[in-house]
Amino acid sequence: MKRIGKRLTVLDFDGTCTNAEVEGIGFVNAVITELVRITGSNEARIRAAYEGVEERILRNPEQHGWAVNGIIVAPATVDPYLRSKPIVREILETHGMTRSEIDRIVDELNGPRYNEFYQKSGVCLRPKLGDALMRLAAEPDHAVVIITNAGIEAVKRKLATLTGVDATMIESIPVMGGAKKFIVGDLPNAQSELRIPGLNRPVFCNRPFYFNALNHARTMAGVDDWQNVTVVGDIFELDLALPHALGCKTGLAANSHTPRYEKTFMFECLYGDVLFHMEQIAAFALER
Ligand SMILES: [Mg+2]
Repeated sequence: MKRIGKRLTVLDFDGTCTNAEVEGIGFVNAVITELVRITGSNEARIRAAYEGVEERILRNPEQHGWAVNGIIVAPATVDPYLRSKPIVREILETHGMTRSEIDRIVDELNGPRYNEFYQKSGVCLRPKLGDALMRLAAEPDHAVVIITNAGIEAVKRKLATLTGVDATMIESIPVMGGAKKFIVGDLPNAQSELRIPGLNRPVFCNRPFYFNALNHARTMAGVDDWQNVTVVGDIFELDLALPHALGCKTGLAANSHTPRYEKTFMFECLYGDVLFHMEQIAAFALER
């Protein structure tokens, strides 16, 4: 694929530009405190149960998923936020709660109270993030944008902690928040799903809210062709399945919990790769 003309790089934020494992420690502690309150059990017991379920989920990533509206939209293993969902459910089950009680509690924790827990997260940006963003922002005939499910303010607050960078240049990078990449729905003229070896369920590419965000970013950047768009994210299913179907170049920012089936798929993908460092991400995005 020869890419000619103006180009765009789209970056996911949490887990791609940050170390979600470290950032999520405060979040997990807050969830454990809440489970202690709900179950009346003690903290040591809940923490041991939490870690026990977590270990089991991590051993079999292909067997667990994050379900939204009854459809699995992402693996449940890649970061502590996603892992917390099945773990909470299982701990409540072992405390003899009924299905409807559990559904109510889980809905509340994932809905109205999610932000309260999320705000306990720390800030841990990936090494060399500032250098990579500066390189992407300085490249002629190239635009960079961050598209995330998180709120814009949270991202800007984290980026403001970068040191040794041109702050004006970093602030000039557009951030599009609330992208709802997890909503699967009608998307005319797009491949709706794909099959990945080693995963016994479909991966959905038809994510209309995410499509609108990507398309808006592409139009604003003046990029005509999806082939001139590179998308980098830490979860293939959530961040890259739709861009892959559109014909974008896709980079999987892997960590130690990235499912093997996602890495294998990306290694074998003609216009994709698995990336481990911010320098690699910038170089991948800018190569012709
Ligand atoms: Mg992410």
